[in-house]
Amino acid sequence: MGRLLHVAWLLAAAAAAHVSAAPLQVEQVAPGVYVHIGQHKDFEDGYDGDIANIGFVIGTDAVAVIDTGGSYAVGMALKEALRKITGLPIRYVINTHGHPDHVFGNAAFIDAGPAGAGAPPRFIGHAMLPQAMASRGDAYLRNVKKQLGGAAEKSTLIPPTETVQHRLSLDLGNRQLELTAWPKAHTNNDLTLFDVSSGTLWTGDLLFIERTPSIDGDVKGWFSAMEALKKIKAVTTIPGHGPLTRDKNRALDRQGAYLATLLHDVRTSIRQGTDMTATMATAAASERARWQLFDVVNRRNVNVIYPALEWE
Ligand SMILES: [Zn+2]
Repeated sequence: MGRLLHVAWLLAAAAAAHVSAAPLQVEQVAPGVYVHIGQHKDFEDGYDGDIANIGFVIGTDAVAVIDTGGSYAVGMALKEALRKITGLPIRYVINTHGHPDHVFGNAAFIDAGPAGAGAPPRFIGHAMLPQAMASRGDAYLRNVKKQLGGAAEKSTLIPPTETVQHRLSLDLGNRQLELTAWPKAHTNNDLTLFDVSSGTLWTGDLLFIERTPSIDGDVKGWFSAMEALKKIKAVTTIPGHGPLTRDKNRALDRQGAYLATLLHDVRTSIRQGTDMTATMATAAASERARWQLFDVVNRRNVNVIYPALEWE
């Protein structure tokens, strides 16, 4: 190879390396079901956009992506991982709810639809998701730019093109996905997904394992959702955060114990006239050793539920 040609080749290779992200590490948890397990980092400290569980399900005709990570870069890395496994079209991008760590990667899939280059897939979310994205979007975008700096590049919110009011069934080719939209619980736009052929349940943030559950909706509604989730016969359950489990109901009970303790302690504080700041330091302290990021998330939870319970 001539020297000039060689330089040109190196430049082209460097450019190619720049545009293609390193694929995210995914594991196959059931035939055709792939998950990337996010790390337990807080938004304030060391956040890299890669904290939520995200992944995809492959049918005989098409692929559905379930949550896309907290930045365009994470979404691209997920897409790279997917493309190493299948060349089938990505027909659906499904968001379990609108929190930034689950949705900012949507933008990486905008031109990855089934009709080929430039065509979008169908973006699917809860009927309340468009409104949630519209009202929180600007703040989320400011935060992600502040937290990730240059690594936030191209991160934008892509709202759903189709929404789910109650239930929706999707077909990937010999593979049925059952989507359920829930009343206000973790948020007001929680969506779960059940892959019938493998018995895999994706709970989104209706279930946290290891990481302290965060409340952005209604605790009592969350308890109702948890009771209903217990009735689903799942082989494998993929929580929004933390390792997957074959014993969903035990994990739900663990989460329920934290939420019930928090609710009880905050109510006691209010009855005894303890103010919110003092309550932040003491509520649910008996659960502290069981959860990661407890201090920061638990304080935020008190901040959310204390004012609401004051008027009970
Ligand atoms: Zn969430």
